[in-house]
Amino acid sequence: MNCPGVERCRKCGGTEGRLPEYRFYRVCTLIGGGCLVATASVHYLAAAVTDRGRKRPSNEDAFGYSIEDGVYVVCDGMGGAAAGEIASSLAVDEVLKLLDHQGPNSKCEPMPEAMESAILAANDAIYTRSLRNQRLSGMGTTLVALAVREKHAWVLNIGDSRCYRLRRGKLEQITSDHSLVEEQVRNGRMSRADALRSPLKNVITRALGTQGRVTPDLFALETEPGDLFLLCTDGLTRELSDSTIEALLSERRSLADHCTNLVEAAKRAGGQDNITCLLVRAEA
Ligand code: CA
Repeated sequence: MNCPGVERCRKCGGTEGRLPEYRFYRVCTLIGGGCLVATASVHYLAAAVTDRGRKRPSNEDAFGYSIEDGVYVVCDGMGGAAAGEIASSLAVDEVLKLLDHQGPNSKCEPMPEAMESAILAANDAIYTRSLRNQRLSGMGTTLVALAVREKHAWVLNIGDSRCYRLRRGKLEQITSDHSLVEEQVRNGRMSRADALRSPLKNVITRALGTQGRVTPDLFALETEPGDLFLLCTDGLTRELSDSTIEALLSERRSLADHCTNLVEAAKRAGGQDNITCLLVRAEA
């Protein structure tokens, strides 16, 4: 991907805004921190479905989004039913609340930094609450979030909930799981097939709310009209392969029907866990 360069903000003329170094930051760091001029009119549509699945007594997944603010979040809570539900809901609520002033007209706010601040505040809220209440001790959640401003998109994740992008019929996983088996696969110590069968496949190496400090991965992307983003929990990706998800998303359906269709397919495949799908499509 070529660096798109830095454009000057129409409001303040500035190009300032420096980002901290992110391990997985894929494009020119200046584009995320500078004030951006909207050069293409892209808008977004979204739909989401969450389901308890076929085996779990409760649903510890949570999602939320604001099309107006360009923020989309999916979380998968852990720590026992009540605690897991509290952690995931708290994370979604905190992130949306802290970004609700970041409307599409406030383009001088560097979105990646605002997103990271909101996620760190959510971490603090969950961690503090777990320290205060013995029953909630150790609760936490995964988080995958998408933020969009015109053609610019940022994805942040902690844990093993994922973001995919379908572009021209091809599905690409944007995020990398923070899980023990995924790290072993990346280090060449385990095959992909063994990872799927491993008894340790549930062990995640980063979570929101379990410690005082957490670092999300951040990915910066440019969207094209027709791009379809899928944010989902492992209840979907454990049941359906990437090629199955790609095939299902390539069918002509409304976003809401796509969400329902993915969830039903995951339930037919076993439905061992809670399942959440959030779809966001860029439109010209
Ligand atoms: Ca799960």
